[in-house]
Amino acid sequence: MELNDLIEKKFRLNPLQKAALEKLKLMTLRDLLLYLPSRYGDAAEVKHIAELKPGELAVISGRIVKNEIRKGFHTKIPIAEVTVEDDTGRIKAVWFHQAYMAKKIPEGSLAKITGMVTERKGTRYIANGELEEVDEIELAHKNSLFNKNEVTRTPVYPESRGITSNWFHHAIKKLITAGMHESIVDPIGDEILKKYHLPGLKTAIVWIHFPKSDSDALSARKRFSFEEIFFIQLTRQIERQAYRSNPNFKLAPDPLAVDNFLGKFNFKPTAAQTRSINQILKDMSSNQPMTRLLEGDVGSGKTAVAATVSYSTIVTRPVDANGKKQDFGALQVAYMAPTEILAKQHFESFIKYFKHLGINIGLLTGSGCFKFPSKINPAGFTPISRAQLLKWCANGEIPILIGTHALIQKSIKFKHLALVIIDEQHRFGVEQRFKIARKSTGTVPHLLSMTATPIPRTLALTIYGDLDLSLLDEMPEGRKQVITEVVLKADRQRVYESIRKELKNGRQAYIICPRIDEPDLKKEMAINAKSVKEEAKRLQKDIFPEFEINVIHGKLNPKNKDAVMKDFTEGKIDILVATSVIEVGVNVTNATIIIIEGAERFGLAQLHQLRGRVIRSNHQAYCYVFSDSQSEKTIDRLKALKTAKNGFELAELDLQLRGIGELSGGKQWGISDIGMEAIKNLKMVEAARNEVGEILKTDPQLQNHPTILEKINSRPKPTHFE
Ligand code: ADP
Ligand code: MG
Repeated sequence: MELNDLIEKKFRLNPLQKAALEKLKLMTLRDLLLYLPSRYGDAAEVKHIAELKPGELAVISGRIVKNEIRKGFHTKIPIAEVTVEDDTGRIKAVWFHQAYMAKKIPEGSLAKITGMVTERKGTRYIANGELEEVDEIELAHKNSLFNKNEVTRTPVYPESRGITSNWFHHAIKKLITAGMHESIVDPIGDEILKKYHLPGLKTAIVWIHFPKSDSDALSARKRFSFEEIFFIQLTRQIERQAYRSNPNFKLAPDPLAVDNFLGKFNFKPTAAQTRSINQILKDMSSNQPMTRLLEGDVGSGKTAVAATVSYSTIVTRPVDANGKKQDFGALQVAYMAPTEILAKQHFESFIKYFKHLGINIGLLTGSGCFKFPSKINPAGFTPISRAQLLKWCANGEIPILIGTHALIQKSIKFKHLALVIIDEQHRFGVEQRFKIARKSTGTVPHLLSMTATPIPRTLALTIYGDLDLSLLDEMPEGRKQVITEVVLKADRQRVYESIRKELKNGRQAYIICPRIDEPDLKKEMAINAKSVKEEAKRLQKDIFPEFEINVIHGKLNPKNKDAVMKDFTEGKIDILVATSVIEVGVNVTNATIIIIEGAERFGLAQLHQLRGRVIRSNHQAYCYVFSDSQSEKTIDRLKALKTAKNGFELAELDLQLRGIGELSGGKQWGISDIGMEAIKNLKMVEAARNEVGEILKTDPQLQNHPTILEKINSRPKPTHFE
């Protein structure tokens, strides 16, 4: 997409600003008006020059009276000096090694400088600060274009390289002053606005950018957050309708075959598994394609359910409109996982479940293709060429294909794709889900999404609004609880000793660190966090010299990652030091210990997921939550890990205890920060859901809701509508 030239003309953008706007996807004046502040700062931060004190980080604003470049007296390095004046005095801002700063803004122009006030020999100056040119109204403490209080409620906008919050502030002010916001149509009807006491769009735009009071700002935010989740829900419901209006394979399952398959398991399915299997099979035998989500903690047995319904799919013949079984040849199943490690693990699990049946199973990832069974070794799998795998997949000889998002590629064709299983679907996005669904011609496959990511109910209602829900809320019998301990600094050594005992007994451990490398100084909060590489060295040298230690993290290339994972799986590595991004669900049953360093940095739900890695074993498992935090509140929060019943309870706690911004980013769910504000509010989420339901019930084509329809149509469309 290209930037609308109106913006370019109106604001005389430099190339950096242009790039920044494009990166932020702000293409039109309308987009700019709807670019919302993330918070309100205090413009009183803009100080008078006379008040500046050495050692403070200050913002000043004034006229540039002199630009100079000189050489350091001893050092001879070039120094730019910019002298700025306001009503109260003058100060120099200096930059070392950056002579060009003296040429950035011409003398006589207005500028804003942010930087550290320093004093040398009785003279104050600002060193290596940020310098930007501003227009007349920049002198915020003098101006009252909108209202007097504005100085204490300056909106702060998310910035991007090349463009500042301040730029947005003034650009938007310019647009509103010119009345540009008046012509934007409100997609939400008066009736809904009235019912929930929400301001109309024009008012909300003014209030959110230039609030006269806190309650105005709040009210505007509420409106935008309602609007956002309303449209997410509406879009998902429309997608659901559209998907379900497609023809599907109507699969009446053979209960006997399913029972036989389950009978070969070396365990008895839990009641939750049985219930979920039945719900899924019932969906697949109905007249509409399934769109269902199977939700359950790591280890609750989702893969076992997936295998069972896959089996049922490939041994069942579809039923035509007259109730007659059609003889299609084998129907097919595609099972998509977010990473290679997980795809491979699903492949291996499926082989276990299917080995007595000799059914072909393929594995397709970026780094190779495999097929089970191997001709030479009927109990194992063998590498095959990609071309061969694609051919067998297209002609139906491979009924089950497991893989990463590589499954979406155009070259991959199926003969009769009847079921698509998507693991951790939020890692793919709605778009990709539909892409794989389209691989079937004419008839769409049933969709089963699976997730172990615990999220609060409000979030689930919003982002999974298009999916029916099956819950695995029960762990397989005999599974031992993971013993969880919150460990403070003083107890480290004691814990290391008990870990040593376990390792000596042949068990293995994960140690999770917040970072990969040495401190990244830009990220303040990371400064004290342990890094994978350093911690591995320290443990090897000081704590566990007698054990084999290795590292795994996102920066390793896939081959190295696989090699390390393989060594760990085979017990060649005792301690694996890793970042938290290492896939959930990685299944090494001999690993019974997990240490999480810097635990206060993680959400409870995320900690719970990390703990899930040691849940699979028949040995007693331990989770040590390490925190050097001094805050009692933080430690109490972490202790919830010991008491909460499941991941979903912890997700709710996260939502209540941590700020919205900290709910490990709405971005991964496609929700903005302002949208996340609604997620905290069950009433609002339910209100949006009710309104969406009401509208679609009475007006499914949105013919009587032109403004809503227009907004929906202006969004990127899910691809299957074509
Ligand atoms: P998930 O995919 O939800 O993490 P899996 O299906 O991979 O869980 O199951 C985790 C482990 O538990 C596997 O080793 C599996 O064989 C075993 N398992 C699954 N269901 C049961 C059950 N009902 N009883 C005992 N063990 C089970
Ligand atoms: Mg699994």
